Amino acid sequence: MQRFVLQGSIYYTQYRKCGKPACSTCSSRAKRGHGPYWYRRDSNTGKVHYIGKRLPEGIVSTHDARRLLRPRAAGISDTLRRQQAALRSFIDGGALTDDDIKILTAFDLQDGIL
Ligand SMILES: [Zn+2]
Repeated sequence: MQRFVLQGSIYYTQYRKCGKPACSTCSSRAKRGHGPYWYRRDSNTGKVHYIGKRLPEGIVSTHDARRLLRPRAAGISDTLRRQQAALRSFIDGGALTDDDIKILTAFDLQDGIL
């Protein structure tokens, strides 16, 4: 089973049994049934939408791009966290590290630093 989360939705594959008594794909207990088929569950509403055998190309390419861009986004997030901490120390009058001073200088706040 494949599964991933993207922008408030969970995409996943599932096999389904059709319920027809004579169906050779579903008949025995060992058989998984038809599929796999893709579904999308909205994380907010819980509603499940049937997609089909294949994901739309836009979903596939966005999912691939998201996976490739995740480290870059994590790096930006890390930078923002350090900037936030430096600004917080500046505002509150806390001790400043050399890194904090570099960050605050980049924001043109050096006149407020000893
Ligand atoms: Zn069947």
